[in-house]
Amino acid sequence: MTSHTRPSFIPKVTLVGAGPGDPQLLTLKAVKAIASATVLMVDDLVHPEVLQHASPTARIIHVGKRGGCQSTPQAFIEKLMAQEALAGETVVRLKGGDPLIFGRGGEEQQHLRAQGIAVEVINGITAGLAAAQGLGIALTHRAYAHGVLMITGHASPTHTNQYMPAIDWAMIARTAHDCRLTLVVYMGVQTASGLEQALLMGLPGDTPVAVVENASLPNQRHATTQLAQLSDLFVREQLASPAVIIIGDVLLGLHKLAAVDTPNAVLQA
Ligand code: SAH
Repeated sequence: MTSHTRPSFIPKVTLVGAGPGDPQLLTLKAVKAIASATVLMVDDLVHPEVLQHASPTARIIHVGKRGGCQSTPQAFIEKLMAQEALAGETVVRLKGGDPLIFGRGGEEQQHLRAQGIAVEVINGITAGLAAAQGLGIALTHRAYAHGVLMITGHASPTHTNQYMPAIDWAMIARTAHDCRLTLVVYMGVQTASGLEQALLMGLPGDTPVAVVENASLPNQRHATTQLAQLSDLFVREQLASPAVIIIGDVLLGLHKLAAVDTPNAVLQA
């Protein structure tokens, strides 16, 4: 049976993961969604080449949000997305990595759904996975780790309350040590020295650490050290955002790589 009634309009936003940087790491689904957008709202970690897939008539709005730098307020971004979707635009929100791993994708999704706006999510490759690939290690190599914990080095102070206490780094470190979990720290550049001190409460000082900057991009760099020298490494190698910090014995096989890529920071395996 066919219906002749016009389908009712359902406003929708598609949250699209643009991957860690390399534009070749977009999914086919992401490419299709980008091509169909009439409005694209783009984060600043999204590679400019990704926008080559956009329609020439699409409106492209850059809404960068880099920690501490000039940024568009989150409330404004959420309001604009809703406004454009309700006005009938095909809205695509392009976010670095996977849209729902940090980067406030969860909050955006919640905010939109609360207003009756449908949300579709298209996964992207998250930075921690690209960083491990760039190093040539497996985050879950069974000889060293039972699993992996992705964690922020910069927890949201506005979300800290009795149900959501501040990160207990001593407990995280003990758990990582006792349960053999690899740690992948996002947004940890600014807090590296605090992170080192906090993690030393539960992990040995000689735990291997790698920092991967600009994972998957031609200017990718990495440096390796041991946990007790993490903040020194940041200073010496002038490592900057975006970078992820990988901590754990899965890095033990890396010393040869380190010797080639960063002669000043050879891992003492
Ligand atoms: N949704 C993103 C993460 C957003 S939070 C994802 O899934 O990857 C931003 C943090 O991601 C940065 O502070 C950094 O820790 C990490 N990051 C993003 N792109 C990166 C890259 N190319 N190389 C290393 N780290 C990156």
